[in-house]
Amino acid sequence: MTSSEQPEALPEGALGNYVDGEWHTPRGADGRTVRNPANGAELASLPYASQSDVDAAVTAANAAFEEWRGYAVEERIQPLFRLKSLLEEQQAELAELLVRDMGKTREEAVGELRRGIQNVEVACGIPSLMQAGMVEKAAPGIDETAIRQPLGTVAAITPFNFPGMIPLWFLPYAVATGNAFILKPSEQDPLVPQRLFELVDEAGFPDGVVQLVNGGPDTVNALLDHPGVEGISFVGSSPVARDVYETAAAAGKRVQAQGGAKNHVVVADSADLDHAAEQTVSSACACAGERCLANDIALVHEDVYEEFVDRVLDVADDQVVGNGLHEPTDIGALISPEHEQRVRNYIQSGIEEGATLLRDGRDPTPDGDGNFLGPTVLGDVTADMVVAREELFGPVLGLAAVPSLEAAIGRVNESEFANAASLFTKRGADARRFRAEAAPGNLGVNVGTVAPMPFFHFGGNKDSFFGDLHAQGEDAVQFYTDKTIYVERWPDATD
Ligand code: NAD
Repeated sequence: MTSSEQPEALPEGALGNYVDGEWHTPRGADGRTVRNPANGAELASLPYASQSDVDAAVTAANAAFEEWRGYAVEERIQPLFRLKSLLEEQQAELAELLVRDMGKTREEAVGELRRGIQNVEVACGIPSLMQAGMVEKAAPGIDETAIRQPLGTVAAITPFNFPGMIPLWFLPYAVATGNAFILKPSEQDPLVPQRLFELVDEAGFPDGVVQLVNGGPDTVNALLDHPGVEGISFVGSSPVARDVYETAAAAGKRVQAQGGAKNHVVVADSADLDHAAEQTVSSACACAGERCLANDIALVHEDVYEEFVDRVLDVADDQVVGNGLHEPTDIGALISPEHEQRVRNYIQSGIEEGATLLRDGRDPTPDGDGNFLGPTVLGDVTADMVVAREELFGPVLGLAAVPSLEAAIGRVNESEFANAASLFTKRGADARRFRAEAAPGNLGVNVGTVAPMPFFHFGGNKDSFFGDLHAQGEDAVQFYTDKTIYVERWPDATD
């Protein structure tokens, strides 16, 4: 690299890349203005990484990996313990930043960060989780051991909707297992990832083990076929997830790509309707509907449909829309004006295709000039409507009457997505059937939003996931390691 190619140190307060233990100004031609979704105020300017910035991050990561893999596993988890403490100390400040940058409510932001921290906690158990097994005397005079070893440099590309949590689905497991790690967070809300990396810096990882590169699709593409990257973790929309999976796999990399969703609630005639209505509205509208686990279609047994609709509308009418920093707020702002328009288009398409507009959230009256939509409820949603098939990612709930559990499961399984589904019932036999027959990868009974704890894997099926090993828990340990078998015979052994 000539001196003119050296990245510049980052000015105080600017957004940048964290490479080889230092902050740098990204040198790409593109960039974007980051705005507060609740009022449009400019928060920061984000310059994107250039190809040479990505190359520099990969080179630094590859060099760091050679040393880091040699650290004792017990040493590798010490910076993670420090990171956990720092995240907890900074949780309130991080939550406020998250609200300003992403638009959700303070309570949702605190909950998101807690989920992220739990992943750090699980990864601190890697000395136990990495054990792969040993059989003494597997054959006469022979002992066999399975060993887990890190891959090298791995990268994660993450979406806008959980900028504090989703990077932590990957970073702690990747480095605890001995890999070097590069994060490319969403360009839409980069402030929390930047603050996260300031804490990573304080936590004391050796230079180059953990890196941050900012950017958009070009930065992603620079990572996908980079010869210095061994594994790719992706979370985002399904078309991009599919493309990332195919491109990175064709380049010989290990890939896990979590995609979009279309999730259903099934309400049986035996269900506690108050509980089901409250959980259903919360699932559809929390985080302004911008969750891959949001259940945005409720399939309700026809005998209780009218009663359930009334209760849903009562809960929906209680939702307060506004700036997530103000109390009380239930539904914060959507990420961007473009995304708000996209959700409005979905509502319009539902009406034009014949759904009944039971509550219209298109004219909310929040404080401030942000990207707001109130809870919108559409009734009589049929399976062929666009709103029944596509991910809405806004505070919109569709309702439909179904004659039986069998019919409801049939509709759930017709979807090209299979991320999550919930059943509300008082009958164990319904629950058993639902568990056995429903296709989604995350199933809940009498639970509105099926978010697995970090010691379990997290990911869907069908077009909601491309790959084999999901995020979190034991799957993450397997994803980030290769297995080696070690067979020993000692001819002078006496047994
Ligand atoms: P997105 O697909 O637009 O972006 C995700 C990431 O991919 C970002 O880092 C972005 O920079 C990058 N990207 C975008 N377009 C690209 C392209 N053409 N080529 C290469 N990279 C590209 O997703 P989003 O809008 O940020 O997030 C919302 C989506 O993520 C929803 O579909 C949601 O369901 C999904 N999601 C899924 C899960 C899950 O666990 N399955 C979790 C959270 C979010």
